[in-house]
Amino acid sequence: MAKDKKLVEAITSMEEDFAQWYTDVVKKAELIDYSSVRGCMILRPNGYAIWENIQKELDRRFKETGVENVYMPMFIPESLLQKEKDHVEGFAPEVAWVTHGGLEPLQERLCVRPTSETLFCDLYSNIVQSYRDLPKLYNQWCSVVRWEKTTRPFLRSMEFLWQEGHTVHATADEAEERTIQMLNVYADFCEQVLAIPMIKGRKTDKEKFAGAHSTYTIEALMHDGKALQSGTSHNFGDGFAQAFGIQYTDKENKLQYAHQTSWGMSTRIIGAVIMVHGDDSGLVLPPRIAPTQVMIIPIAQHKEGVLEKAAELSSKLGAYRVKVDDSDKSPGWKFSEQEMRGIPLRIEIGPKDIEANQAVIVRRDTREKIIVSLDEIQVRVGEILETMQLEMLERARKHRDEHTSAATNFTAFADKITSEPGFVKAMWCGDRACEDEIKEKTGATSRCMPFEQEHIADTCVCCGKPAKSMVYWGKAY
Ligand SMILES: [Zn+2]
Repeated sequence: MAKDKKLVEAITSMEEDFAQWYTDVVKKAELIDYSSVRGCMILRPNGYAIWENIQKELDRRFKETGVENVYMPMFIPESLLQKEKDHVEGFAPEVAWVTHGGLEPLQERLCVRPTSETLFCDLYSNIVQSYRDLPKLYNQWCSVVRWEKTTRPFLRSMEFLWQEGHTVHATADEAEERTIQMLNVYADFCEQVLAIPMIKGRKTDKEKFAGAHSTYTIEALMHDGKALQSGTSHNFGDGFAQAFGIQYTDKENKLQYAHQTSWGMSTRIIGAVIMVHGDDSGLVLPPRIAPTQVMIIPIAQHKEGVLEKAAELSSKLGAYRVKVDDSDKSPGWKFSEQEMRGIPLRIEIGPKDIEANQAVIVRRDTREKIIVSLDEIQVRVGEILETMQLEMLERARKHRDEHTSAATNFTAFADKITSEPGFVKAMWCGDRACEDEIKEKTGATSRCMPFEQEHIADTCVCCGKPAKSMVYWGKAY
């Protein structure tokens, strides 16, 4: 038992120190390990399998909308990166450069892609000539590099995995429609698969992507009341097309600039899964994303017939992602391990259960114990997984709503931001100066101007001038 306790005691409690709890979970659940490269993490099998499931689900949803996958080079020549002024300014501080090839200095530096807009634009300028070539709906799964000063597993690392979609369209309307469509794909995926409710909205000019005409975002609230930007979708208008000369001849044979979008989601979203659902025993994974959904733990497995019955049960549950822990660790240790890794259900089966033709199912999120007849177990496991998935979403939504407040004046705003971690809804005049002042005085940033606008007051929470929109504010990761 002493050993069992050690695994659990090794994590700091969330209330005591949330940041340390997070670090403990990613390490103890064996999602990642640190590498010898500063700021770069190693995704271990438990972590990478979550990413693979995210990929599978997202990729299917992208393809349903007509998107095709491609692969671009990881290097970008400096001259290409320089073509769009805002874009290069936005990314310059965090770009890694290749200056030598072997022992020879390069004629032109190559940057390691921080994002691939410029490469896609270069391609599109070559392959788009006529309206018949449009639209092009491309996506790539790859890693990108950003030279971050401070890093944290999943949330901010120098190299991370993501997907970046890049589309090119004939008209501004089509590009706008695609930008919103992909934002909706992200939001639906997060809610239905990751059980994380999202606020959908538009970023302010200050927070938008470098070179974008407009940036849309999905924002989630973590357990500690901080916000996490979880996916973004950008409409570039024809800005990049003008810089890169992406033109096509329309039906009237007139030359037109194309309109573009880009959209991305990264391994950062795994950080959100951890911080929205986890508890003091470790990770809690929503069933639809969990690499292992059910862990069968034999009790008194040395007794005759127990391991055989566990194996039989495992094959009976073949429709789910099931494993049997038949290692020689104690059941208590196995329970702690299954809990730490966030496996949604464990099934305990021992000699007494076998005799009674039953097994004990324990839910990871509520720890509810459910005794189920072995005759019905296939159906019951499916039902319990489904209930757990839905309840996790509802719990996350309730937590978010309980940590969302509204403020109509600056004193109340500043007070809420400091004393009640969460989203604060407040009106804004549209001036950058107010956004800057709010950040400087309270540490909160504008998360988004939600699509579902509410009228909270007539005036800006900061300057008192007439308000233009309602904004979600919060401290963010
Ligand atoms: Zn203002």
